[in-house]
Amino acid sequence: MATQEIWDAIIIGGGAAGLFCAGIAGQLGKKILVLDHAEVLGEKIRISGGGRCNFTNIDSTPQQFLSLNPHFMKSALARYPSSAFIDLVKTYGIGFHEKQAGQLFCNDSAKQIIALLFNECEKGNVQIRHPVSVTSIQRKLNYWEVFTSPGNSYGSEKTHAVVMATGGLPVPAIGASGFALDIARQLGLDVVSPRAALVPLAFTAKAFTNLEELAGLSLPVAIRAGLKGKRYGLCQFHEDLLLTHKGISGPAVLQASSYWEEGELIEIDWLSTAADVSGAGVFDHIFSAEGNRLKTADNILAGIIPQRLAKMFAAQAGLLGKKWAEVGKTEQQALKASLTQWRVKPAGTLGWNKAEVMLGGVHTNALNGQTMMARKNPGVYFIGECVDVTGHLGGHNFQWAWSSAYVCALAL
Ligand SMILES: Cc1cc2nc3c(=O)[nH]c(=O)nc-3n(C[C@H](O)[C@H](O)[C@H](O)COP(=O)(O)OP(=O)(O)OC[C@H]3O[C@@H](n4cnc5c(N)ncnc54)[C@H](O)[C@@H]3O)c2cc1C
Repeated sequence: MATQEIWDAIIIGGGAAGLFCAGIAGQLGKKILVLDHAEVLGEKIRISGGGRCNFTNIDSTPQQFLSLNPHFMKSALARYPSSAFIDLVKTYGIGFHEKQAGQLFCNDSAKQIIALLFNECEKGNVQIRHPVSVTSIQRKLNYWEVFTSPGNSYGSEKTHAVVMATGGLPVPAIGASGFALDIARQLGLDVVSPRAALVPLAFTAKAFTNLEELAGLSLPVAIRAGLKGKRYGLCQFHEDLLLTHKGISGPAVLQASSYWEEGELIEIDWLSTAADVSGAGVFDHIFSAEGNRLKTADNILAGIIPQRLAKMFAAQAGLLGKKWAEVGKTEQQALKASLTQWRVKPAGTLGWNKAEVMLGGVHTNALNGQTMMARKNPGVYFIGECVDVTGHLGGHNFQWAWSSAYVCALAL
């Protein structure tokens, strides 16, 4: 296609949402150009889900998403639910399995999802150019002009529509940028301030003295974070927690990190192994057992939590070596509280390099949820992670990429 011609749409960003949108629109007969500044496309998909891509979740419903407008994602998820993407994966013969709680992973490799996306683009005669850096977009009388960086042989391109699909800020080393947010601000759209989410939390040595000795331990816990009346309210998750050299990680912590804000406490119940198991109940049960009266607190605890952790709690309560029968009521209550309502203030998150996703993004009030088009800028669309819609851990973020891309593609 000669550069003088006008594309139906230029999609900036050839990641999950961009490629999926391109493939669908192309197959609907639209002339689509994808521009991406990365040397290699699909890198985030390749590293996702530990290399096996948790590509969706059977139960991807609006309740699994955070947004200042909790209704915004409803339409896109209803029109392109996880079952639709699962059907597509099946038509490609990609083997997959459910790991837990509806999370679907490829049996072999995340590369199969990347191949699926490229194949869909090929079917739609989509043109993909990379590495190409886009510098700006400008509204002309009846089209948009997309400018690429100087020295780039492609120059500028004309298009009826521009789709911003440049994702979020996590993992800048593989091409993440805030470009969609910059464009949104230039167009006068509100942006909800971005924050690293699904990210491990760090502690200072003061908050957690013997972290080094505990690193590597993993156990199921109940974790609570956030505050009533704050951005996303209060959350509680029952998942595994992993102690690391820098702080805490694992699914429970990643989930809680989306609700946690700098300066707030988080609360952990180390004895609650599942939603229907109260840590306080477990404590009362084991410590009241007749056979445990002559044992030490760390020995009793070691029956239900890792030994090193049991020792730490007993030591902090000053109970090392003391038989339970000799421990006074006040000390007993203090140990119970520290095990079941352990409150700590994380020093921060491990930041964009370790985050899986970005909270915040282009404000949904600025977008039409049926099409993802900017209300005040006809012809400009925002899809995927750059929008203020963030999923819980477990395949929901890819599902948002697919669903938002689908409704946009149909509107182009
Ligand atoms: C380590 C890790 C593991 C993850 N695992 C999962 C998982 O298993 N399941 C799940 O649901 N989610 C997972 N996620 C989140 C998921 O990868 C993202 O939510 C999803 O990729 C977002 O899709 P997107 O298309 O919006 O952005 P991306 O897939 O990030 O694509 C954005 C594209 O835009 C390009 N780009 C950026 N800036 C520019 C620019 N200025 N000019 C041109 N191009 C640009 C980038 O190069 C990239 O190709 C994971 C994320 C990480 C970091």
